[in-house]
This record gives sequence, C-alpha cells and structure tokens, in this order.
Amino acid sequence: MANKSVLYNAAGVYNSYKREMLSNCHVVIQDGMIEELVRGEINPEDYQKQGYETVDMEGQYLFPGLIDAHAHPFLPQIFSPGFLFSGFRQWDDQVQLNLDGLVEQGVVYAQDMGSVDGRGIRYKRMIDRGELLGPEVDTALATISVKGGFPETAPTFPWPITKVTEGNYIFRGDTEHALDFARRMADQGANVLKVYFQSHSVTDYAGPRDGSHTIEDYRRIETPDVDCITGLIDIAAERRIRVGVHSLCTEDYETIVRAANERIAGDQDLYEILRMEHSPAGRLSDDVIGMMAKNQILFSPTLAIYMQSTQEYTQKSIDRLAAMEQGNGSLMPEARKQLTARLEAGLRLIEKGGKYKWGEVKAGFIDRRPLLAGYTQATENVKRCRQAGVKILFGDDMYGTEQGWDNPIIVEMMEMRKAGYSPTDVIHMATRSNAKILGLSGLGSIEGGNKASILGLSSDGSQDIKAFRSDNIDTVMIKGKLRKINGRLLKK
Ligand SMILES: [Zn+2]
Repeated sequence: MANKSVLYNAAGVYNSYKREMLSNCHVVIQDGMIEELVRGEINPEDYQKQGYETVDMEGQYLFPGLIDAHAHPFLPQIFSPGFLFSGFRQWDDQVQLNLDGLVEQGVVYAQDMGSVDGRGIRYKRMIDRGELLGPEVDTALATISVKGGFPETAPTFPWPITKVTEGNYIFRGDTEHALDFARRMADQGANVLKVYFQSHSVTDYAGPRDGSHTIEDYRRIETPDVDCITGLIDIAAERRIRVGVHSLCTEDYETIVRAANERIAGDQDLYEILRMEHSPAGRLSDDVIGMMAKNQILFSPTLAIYMQSTQEYTQKSIDRLAAMEQGNGSLMPEARKQLTARLEAGLRLIEKGGKYKWGEVKAGFIDRRPLLAGYTQATENVKRCRQAGVKILFGDDMYGTEQGWDNPIIVEMMEMRKAGYSPTDVIHMATRSNAKILGLSGLGSIEGGNKASILGLSSDGSQDIKAFRSDNIDTVMIKGKLRKINGRLLKK
C-alpha cells in the first residue's frame, strides 16, 4: 500500500466530540497519519494523479480503532491447552494468533496486563518492526504476587498455572522482594505494574461488609499486603507508570482501595495511578466507591470474564474445540479430549446449579459457579461506579484464542450497555476516554494529526453497539496499513 491514501465514499465518519456521524467526509492519510478530513464531494482521480491510493469505503461507517486496556496477547501458552498438554505449537505462532484475534475485533492498541518476564518487550519490539502483525501494544511483563496474593487453588482460574509457570509469569515473594521485582519490571520497560491480590476465593468473602474493619485489622489477618500496595504506588509515581491490581475477592478489593485512599489522600500527582482490574464478585461498599471517585482510582470492570463462565459460553468453547478437530488442527487430539471433558464436566455443574464447595472440584476451570454467582453483583458495582463518577478503563481480559469466547470485546461492550451506558458512551470509553487516560497520543478519534488507526463497520455503531461485532467489522486499518479488508484478515 502506498504511503498516501484516501478513504472515500464512506457512509459516515464518526466525530468523537459531537458523537455523530459525518456524511460526505473523506479521510486523507499520509505516512500512517491522518493528514486531514475533507468534506463534500471529491473526485478520487484528482487524488490518484497526486499518487494517492484511493480506497472506496462504500456502505461503511468509519470509527476510531478500539483500545483494549486489559488483554493478554503474550500469555496464551500458559492458558493454552496446546501448551499445557504438548507444547507443540511454537510460542511466536500462538502470539500471532492472539494478535490476529485482537485485530479481528477492531483493537488497534492493547495493554498486555501480565505475560512472561522478558517476552512482552520482545514481542512489542517484533510488532514495532513488523515481524509480528498486531495492534500497538504495551506490556506489564510478569505479574507480581505477595502475601495474600495468587492462591494456587483460586477456583476461578482456568488452569493451575503456578505449577506450570512459577518464576516467569508470577513472581512470588515477600514485600521487600516484590518491590525489588517491581523496580526490575519497570527497568525492563513495563508501563504498568500488575499485581495479584486475592487471598480468598471469589465467593468466600463476597458478602456485604459491615464496614467496621480498619486497615489495621486487615494488617493482622491474611489479606493483601498493605505495605506492598503503598510501596508499589510510590515506585509507579517515581517511574511515571501505573499499578494494576487484580482482585475478584471483595474483601481484598476493599482493603486495597482503602490503603490506596490513605496513601493518595488528595495528592493530585497520584490520581489515576492505581487501576483496579475487574469488578469484584461481591457488593462494593458506598464508602469504597466514594474513595475511588474522590482519589481517581481507575476501574477496569472486564465483565466479559463473568460471561465466559455462563452456560452459553461454556457450550461455545466445546463447539469451538469440536470445530478445531475438523479444522486447523491446532490442538493435539489428546489435549482436545481432555479439555472437552473438563468443559463438559463444568457445564454439568452449571446445569446442576447450587454452590461451589471449597475443595469439591480441584481445578477452577471445571467449576465456574463461583464466578457466575458473582455476576449480578459485579454488574451492580459497575452501575454504582458509573453513578458515582468513577473513571472507567475499557478492557476485556482476553487471553488466547482457544477459550471459546470468540468475541470478548463485543461481550464487554454489551455488558457496559447493560450497566447503563449509551452506545456512544461505550464507544467513547473504548476509544477517546481510554486514549486520554492511558496517555496515548494520536489515538481515540478520527481527526487530522492522529494516527490512521480506523475501523470500517457495515452498520452504524453509534446507533447500535452490535455493529462492533467482529463479523460486522469490514475494515481495520492500523497506522495507515490495512489489516482487514472485506471482513478478512490480511496475513503477512
Ligand atoms: Zn487479566
């Protein structure tokens, strides 16, 4: 493709400020950047004479590319059954598949929220050099875990991953070593420090709190390491990066926010420094939501993870595996058999209903009931955070290509609709707002001076968000390069 191009004849171009479609609007692109928007009738031949490639966007609605604040494109091997059962697929090939999955869904920028020590930066560079095709990516590198951190028995996690990967995906240690490790991650180029605090299962502590606990109480029991949280905030402040905390356990979640609230205490330099990943499975207290709003603690709900546990999506996973058997053969027969058996056992448990009993089933991947039980509250939390004015980061927590949820971005968008956001609110969240919060210059809107990272949809997404389903995304352009045309991904 020429370094100069014009996207013309589109049904509309989305204006991110007025939140409306502009008709008779054409996008002039040079060297990966949007040169200008031209209104009115144009003659493509005039541009061709000047060396522009003209791309007819007839019937398509142009939107800025999506920004995924929480994904795991570099993590797949750990979760991939192919990796666990045989390791037959080349690591780089799997990463490319995951990047393809993001582009397919219209993602032009993603934050890798925890992958493998060292690899994240390597892949980021490979993308920059064009050796891997993908969205632009930043990475957290390895996840940090301390006291009250990653439990081997987390009933929500798909695989007993600490057994497989301890030491490169998850760092475990005491406070002092965790902080040293965090500095090392920052030295290596991590732009966010990903921390895992989940001392209890999702549902054990998902009940409403009575509000009588203080930070001092929590210091005494086996809950998140409060000193570690404040230490990480200080490191992040010094390096001008962020801390992203994973927790689904409501008690832990609240402890973290309270500790951060004490540390931030109205200091504007520390606003937006902490991101709370996922909406927890229990009811967040009004207190804590107020603290998040007041001290600008960011909230990344990733409700798609709850949806993944539903009957519908479990069945989709099974169907997807069956299709793979006949299709691209990406999984060894034995791996497929074992994974299918696990999923079917999980489906039976969901159908059976009732509550998860600690220790009843070994691996969380089988029993998804704890997450399902938390879904209603997790959604309520988002609604209440919206009303309280908590800043939201849009992300879906996508990892791998073999988990069955073939379209987590649209799942997340639909969940945000249910939480009360309008279609244009959702678009704003996934584009301009994310770009602004994450400090991504040149992304988030279609305007002169921005990167030419643009989607062409077959219907108007500002009227109905379902237009962002990946099969409705006809065109994906990333920094002036077409990556998807006529609904088909372009390979190298
Ligand atoms: Zn995640």
